[in-house]
Amino acid sequence: MRILIVEDEADLRRQLTDALTQAGYTVDLAADGEDGHFLGDTEPYDAVILDLGLPKIDGVTVLERWRKDGKTFPVMILTARDRWSEKVRGFDAGADDYVTKPFYTEEILARLRALLRRASGHVLPTIEAGSLRLDTRSTRATLNGTPLRLTAHEYKVLSYLIHHQERVVSRTELVEHIYDQDFDRDSNTIEVFVGRLRKKIGGNRIITERGLGYRLIVPEHEQARAVR
Ligand code: CA
Repeated sequence: MRILIVEDEADLRRQLTDALTQAGYTVDLAADGEDGHFLGDTEPYDAVILDLGLPKIDGVTVLERWRKDGKTFPVMILTARDRWSEKVRGFDAGADDYVTKPFYTEEILARLRALLRRASGHVLPTIEAGSLRLDTRSTRATLNGTPLRLTAHEYKVLSYLIHHQERVVSRTELVEHIYDQDFDRDSNTIEVFVGRLRKKIGGNRIITERGLGYRLIVPEHEQARAVR
């Protein structure tokens, strides 16, 4: 899951980046409204954390422009502006959540999990695909209750696929949602990660759809008791 943070205060940017990276997210940064708007306009983020008081272009204007251009990613406003009328303005501009500074990082992470799971049609922080489970709070996955040892990249691939289970995800889409903008993107490395993941979770859970991409499924023998 790839998150854009638009925040002009360097300390806050660093604090959020550390917390999000530790929580298994890929993070891109913008320090002003112009950069932020450009990145949101050109990269497919899973969610955005947006400050309002920004150099160059105000956060509300950035948000209004994205929404006008049809951008649907969830946006959490994170701002010092705590008047109710500012909150109304933010939500009406297309925000999905609104948090005022100072904040607790844990709360930001919990709200982000909620936005991400809602955006992909899930209601709980533990996402299941048959006996495969991913706990987005602890960034741990289990298979039949047994913990899986995943690298950071394997976790990112699994997280994206399980959030979007039963849907075909192309290699390009996967690359765009697990690497940040500066990463040297090579879709061949994705195949390596998927291959390693298959060895850990069983080859029948990630189907290769020829020429289209990957689909994470609940194997047939588990479907009767599948709860999502
Ligand atoms: Ca600011």
